[in-house]
Amino acid sequence: MESVRVRFAPSPTGMFHVGSARTALFNWLYARHTGGTFVLRVEDTDAARNKTEYVDVILRGLQWLGMNWDEGPQIGGGVKGDRGPYFQSQRGEIYRRAVDKLLGEGKAYESDGAIRFRTPKTPAVVHDLICGDITFDRTNEPDLVIQRKDGSPVFHLVNVVDDLEMGITHVIRGEDHLSNTQKHLALIEALGGQPPHYAHIPLILNPNGSKMSKRDAGASIEDYIDQGYLPAAVRNYLCLLGWSPKDNRELITIEEVIAKFDLPQVNRANARFDADKLFWINGEYFRALDIDALEPLAVSILQKRGILPDKFDHAYFRAALAIVKEKVKVGRELPDWMSYFFDEDFKFDEAAVKKVFTPEGLTNVARLRERLALIDSRNFKADALEAEFKTLAAATGQKTGALVHPARLAVSGRPVGPSLYHLLEVLGQRRVLSRFERVEKQFGAPVA
Ligand code: GLU
Repeated sequence: MESVRVRFAPSPTGMFHVGSARTALFNWLYARHTGGTFVLRVEDTDAARNKTEYVDVILRGLQWLGMNWDEGPQIGGGVKGDRGPYFQSQRGEIYRRAVDKLLGEGKAYESDGAIRFRTPKTPAVVHDLICGDITFDRTNEPDLVIQRKDGSPVFHLVNVVDDLEMGITHVIRGEDHLSNTQKHLALIEALGGQPPHYAHIPLILNPNGSKMSKRDAGASIEDYIDQGYLPAAVRNYLCLLGWSPKDNRELITIEEVIAKFDLPQVNRANARFDADKLFWINGEYFRALDIDALEPLAVSILQKRGILPDKFDHAYFRAALAIVKEKVKVGRELPDWMSYFFDEDFKFDEAAVKKVFTPEGLTNVARLRERLALIDSRNFKADALEAEFKTLAAATGQKTGALVHPARLAVSGRPVGPSLYHLLEVLGQRRVLSRFERVEKQFGAPVA
């Protein structure tokens, strides 16, 4: 059997879109599934629309998602293994040769300075691994421009020439290219090449059924990086946009997808983008991360936001992370859940203050401060603290909640958070007592 060679061929004309990332992923998965080769080819011949910053964004996105490419010209002084993608802008000679060949054989001609390909007018059939056989009527197809007046080659030509040059066996790309494929087949035949197999993957739609565009919320991979999503979770979600393991599972390891992924099983129907599902999947991955894996991500997010100083107490940080981890679904929520661990001047939620810091609430803060001051600091542990709260509640004829809510608000400024007793343990006795004291000062000590 021929060895599989696939390519991802982005045009760097905008941000790295979810749809492009999914196309890259399906190519990468197919290469990994078959033990084939994944080629990255930047289609940057349209000088007016390309920007190098978009190339950077695409490369960063691919690397973030763990989709490494297998070959390319050597870059950066030829460090071993450091291979860049192919850039079409550097392959002009190859395209010129192809145009000359077509001209020489009378299969193309000059017209007003541009070069046109004599497009056949007979019907064309595309055999597609996903869409099946599709027939195109070409009676009215105009002769395709393959080289512009300024001498630059057109997308259809460079795309086809490179697929032949690079020995691509399977072209896996978005369904929006299906109608181009009949043009490409004609060019391939004229160039005397062997056509690759085609697999056009379904479009991605917004929840309302419209085609997802670059401007839609959630469309940019860069946004997911910025928001502290986990690359494995985003990749897991992208796998499900047009493919599934067929047993309703949504959490699936990349190893398993690689083992199962095949082209005939890609859905024919359009996929629907579901930001809530992606968010949920990310939360599941987040929960499953151990602290060692989570720590660098959390540190970078919190330092970027100025919440965590350059030097900090690592044991304290890890303990805090361990108790908020269950609550957080995506990295961007970390600042909100963690800022008060590192800030003695945190703001109080106003609505919660009105509700919780009533005269009784403040009396309970004062009572707690007195009692918790008596605990030996080595015993300032969740279990012991819980017992203290229960004893004090019983002694004062109150429900434990009457103590828990003021205590939580006093030490964190907010009405919700991780388990209170664990929170107190992590903050430690000194911080807890000084925060109680701050509340008594700031909101007025009650008359005992
Ligand atoms: N540069 C084209 C695009 O980004 C590539 C299409 C293809 O994969 O053949 O849409």
